[in-house]
Amino acid sequence: MTEKTDVVLIGAGIMSATLGALLRQVQPDWSITMFERLDAAAPESSDPWNNAGTGHSALCELNYSPQQADGSVDVSKAVDINERFQVSRQFWAYAVENGVLGEPSEFINPIPHVSFVHGADNVDYLRKRYEALSRHPLFEGMEYIDAPDEFARRLPLMAKGRDYSEPVALNWTDSGTDIDFGSLTKQLLAYLGASGVEIAFGNAVLDLDKQSDGSWNVRSRNTRTGATRTVNAKFVFVGAGGYALPLLQKSGIKEIKGFAGFPVSGQFLRCTNPDLIQRHNAKVYGKAAVGAPPMSVPHLDTRVINGRAGLLFGPYAGWTPKFLKDGKLTDLLKSVRAGNLTPMLGVGVTELGLVKYLVSELLKSQSGKVNTMAEFIPRAEGPDWELITAGQRVQIIRRKGVGGVLELGTAVIAAADGSVAGLLGASPGASTCVSAMLDVLQRCFPQEYAGWTPKLKEMVPSLGVKLSENQALYSEVWDWSNKALHLTRDDVSDNTPTPAGVA
Ligand SMILES: Cc1cc2nc3c(=O)[nH]c(=O)nc-3n(C[C@H](O)[C@H](O)[C@H](O)COP(=O)(O)OP(=O)(O)OC[C@H]3O[C@@H](n4cnc5c(N)ncnc54)[C@H](O)[C@@H]3O)c2cc1C
Repeated sequence: MTEKTDVVLIGAGIMSATLGALLRQVQPDWSITMFERLDAAAPESSDPWNNAGTGHSALCELNYSPQQADGSVDVSKAVDINERFQVSRQFWAYAVENGVLGEPSEFINPIPHVSFVHGADNVDYLRKRYEALSRHPLFEGMEYIDAPDEFARRLPLMAKGRDYSEPVALNWTDSGTDIDFGSLTKQLLAYLGASGVEIAFGNAVLDLDKQSDGSWNVRSRNTRTGATRTVNAKFVFVGAGGYALPLLQKSGIKEIKGFAGFPVSGQFLRCTNPDLIQRHNAKVYGKAAVGAPPMSVPHLDTRVINGRAGLLFGPYAGWTPKFLKDGKLTDLLKSVRAGNLTPMLGVGVTELGLVKYLVSELLKSQSGKVNTMAEFIPRAEGPDWELITAGQRVQIIRRKGVGGVLELGTAVIAAADGSVAGLLGASPGASTCVSAMLDVLQRCFPQEYAGWTPKLKEMVPSLGVKLSENQALYSEVWDWSNKALHLTRDDVSDNTPTPAGVA
């Protein structure tokens, strides 16, 4: 028997949870069914230790502000990423004030965001970046620091044992955040469950079949009993992380033709020494090594998970053909189609540098990994760190000309009739989940969108407006979201490390 529902959401990660919550606000009468193949909420990339938890707003990530051939720094991408993070902040603030989300410190906490470089050329670049960004309203409050004593005051763990004969510099912004996307997802799912959404854990979606009336039959299997179930939905969102590509391929929509995926796994070193954790309170992003991809940018991150501070360093890239951490070794092979073989082969040829980088990373032993960390923590010692496996990324390969290009961002893929959509790719990922899901609403529900706009503007007052061009509105939503999300901690401006337990 085929059951009927208005909306099927595939995957219980941050993307489906966000889309479900937005839909519940604008169209509370629609029935929604969510399928998750594993027996937990946010078990893949959205789990807090599977990602770095950085509220990506381009305050510290240098790959969003590249240096041009003429020496100037292009900040356009940084402004765009920051704008998109402001959209997330507004929705979360609305959600806290309206009972959709609970205690904000369980998912978002203020942590300074810091860019760190060493070497004369890099210091020169960082000064130019500071000059370009600190004038911009969205980056107000950014500081430039190159004095060793101030470096040591702000980052004692990174200062101990450092040789300052090589110049160092920091761009420091107090208003950064750490986000536990797992906790945020769980809070959103709790709200969805309480508002009547069926969340079917341990149910893997096998197939999507388009019906003659434009709806979809979604077939799933219960992973415990083996029983199959078919649900008919008017709209399907494929928020399946790394499995979004194969599921969209199964749907047969023409928009997915030519797309392929390049899996990259990752590892972090997680600190096990509470004294070290206590001596650091920042998310510090460095520069990717020459020839290494942006996803390899090294960073030393204060995390706040379950009310406790943590510290991680990484990522160390690795390789497996799986598309999810809990995926299968056959995932990559099974994703090959006549339409995406040429782009895949093309990328294999053009991205030899990436392949070389992955091989060198794979060959690194744990002590080699700790040595890499010495750039950040000169006195790093192996026993203080444990190696953990992070989430699996599936980077987008898109057809271009006769070959293909590897993209490091995310892309919403939607069928022309709006009946199915999905999200491919990884970065900037979860931080921009709200703008990505608003994009889904706009593209898939053109009839309803105009009617939803007043409610959407209540949730995201800057909808349709560039905050970088509207200083008054920016100040208003910034103050509101800071207050609602409890991000105005008095001690933030003090810039000194906080105790290990921050609850
Ligand atoms: C190493 C790493 C570091 C990162 N760091 C950051 C960061 O600092 N900041 C940031 O903003 N983003 C970061 N990201 C990106 C971020 O984690 C992802 O963009 C985000 O979690 C993706 O959410 P999602 O809901 O699309 O996918 P996921 O969280 O992976 O959820 C997909 C869900 O779908 C389920 N599923 C899959 N197939 C099926 C099926 N057939 N049937 C039913 N269920 C299915 C899966 O089990 C999974 O639970 C990072 C990612 C990685 C890998």
